[in-house]
Amino acid sequence: MIHYTLSTENPSAQYIQFSMQFEPTNAVEKIQLPSWRPGRYELGNFAKNIKGFRVVNENNELLSFKKVTKDCWEVITNQANIVRVEYAYYATDLNAGSTFLSEDQLYVNPVNCCTYVVGREMEGVIVDLKIPEDYAIACSMEMQKHTLFAQNFDELADSPFICSNSLQHNSYVVDEVVFHVWFQGEVKVDWEKLIPDFTAFTEKQIEKFGTFPVEEYHFLTQIVPFRAYHGVEHCRSTVLLLGPSYSIFKEVYTDLLGVSSHELYHTWNVKAIRPIEMLPYDFTKENYSELGLLCEGVTTYMGDLFLYKSDVFDLKEYLSEMNAQLQKHFDNPARLNYSVAQSSFDTWLDGYVPGAPNRKVSIYTEGCLLSFIFDVFIIKNSEGKYSLDDVMRYLYEEFYHKNKGVSEADYKQTLEKFAGTSFDVLFEKYVHGTTDFTQILNESFESLGLKMNSKANDKISQSKLGIKALLQGNYFVVKSIYLDSPADIAGIMLEDELIAVNGMDALGNIDAWLNYFKNDEIEILVKRKSVFLSLKIVLDDQVYYPDYFIVDLENKSENQKKCFEIWSK
Ligand SMILES: [Zn+2]
Repeated sequence: MIHYTLSTENPSAQYIQFSMQFEPTNAVEKIQLPSWRPGRYELGNFAKNIKGFRVVNENNELLSFKKVTKDCWEVITNQANIVRVEYAYYATDLNAGSTFLSEDQLYVNPVNCCTYVVGREMEGVIVDLKIPEDYAIACSMEMQKHTLFAQNFDELADSPFICSNSLQHNSYVVDEVVFHVWFQGEVKVDWEKLIPDFTAFTEKQIEKFGTFPVEEYHFLTQIVPFRAYHGVEHCRSTVLLLGPSYSIFKEVYTDLLGVSSHELYHTWNVKAIRPIEMLPYDFTKENYSELGLLCEGVTTYMGDLFLYKSDVFDLKEYLSEMNAQLQKHFDNPARLNYSVAQSSFDTWLDGYVPGAPNRKVSIYTEGCLLSFIFDVFIIKNSEGKYSLDDVMRYLYEEFYHKNKGVSEADYKQTLEKFAGTSFDVLFEKYVHGTTDFTQILNESFESLGLKMNSKANDKISQSKLGIKALLQGNYFVVKSIYLDSPADIAGIMLEDELIAVNGMDALGNIDAWLNYFKNDEIEILVKRKSVFLSLKIVLDDQVYYPDYFIVDLENKSENQKKCFEIWSK
């Protein structure tokens, strides 16, 4: 049994005191802190938050240790009966996968702050929480008052918890599974709106998979006063971070639904249906996988589609999510440079930041569009007998229930089984290749009686110059440049501040001046790292960064109607 104690004597200093106690079985024991967390496939370097690491025996006498990697310590146990590892963890990050301490709450993702004894990961775990008496705990682990129990380190690592006296809670039941919904932070929860919507998408997802993988589930929602959007999946729970408080049940409500449906779908896809490279997780180093198009791609696609299938979204709301994915796809020229499989492998390098321009693609966006293409391909080729739902259910039953990880070959063979035809070309061109999606997207939408259209963006800086810029302070700053556009040819660089157009101060409204001078020669004054430069721009007839949108065709053929019906139900 591994016994942890967490205490929070001085919350304003934001250090959590940790101890991990166990009976040693070796002269030298290795103590490891995970170096990454599932759900975010990059190194987290959590050990940078550890202060005052020390080890004592049952008499409180110091034991010697040495650090052997950035997050592994070797302890000389010196015939101790009990070894206790003690450290303080700095907890200031508040996101869906972090650990955070304040006067209002103790929020813990054990995967970033709990060490484990190497070789003893399968032992039972007890966690004692020294927290204020009136604190409640939102958590999927078994508990008694302020003590938590886990079967092993994997369960502990996968079970975030929030302790606070201001938690708001409600629940609903689908298929005898209790779904708990928790809110922490300033928010007036509209339960009458939330519970029917959550029940609807939960019912639909369970209906398609047949069963839910676990007996109980928790949505742990952190609400902040500023704009935020983040979610992390776990076997029996998810943590969501959303804001601002005043918009949660208004403008941001579609985000709350979107991320909740996405994370719930992960309970099957990723937490149950797992890429073979990540079964089991190795917390000490990178777990490379090219299957991002399955893990995040299918989940991104299905998360939104299930909101439509369960009537929580209408078609317009669903298509607006699809439009956003199309926009991200077409705005990124790297789609013609680096495949989704390569980009998946590289999440460990720069998967969660924009990174070097035009280098790599998003597994979420490309994976979502490919999942849509695969879904329609299966519906068409099986003459409406099957869809991507059948593929996912098969993987759930034949791999998860048989304790097997899924390889790319397994996924491809399952797609082929239900489509009744080869996926060789699709994988070669679109998964491992960088073939333009335009044609296959057009064909896929057409099969459903939908049409992909585009039009010039109203902002002339975008549609004619070929730049996307953001107002930072008084002036617009260039954030992306379309390859071979007039801006690119003129030598505009990323992070250039756009100061003036033909000598006119572009304060706060570059597009108005560009529009005014659009038929004249244009000279833009930019400020680049404190140096002013004047650049001549020659416009051409092309439209850059067009807006993409899907239109629902009024006169669908019988075949289109049938495909649409199967796809959307
Ligand atoms: Zn996800």
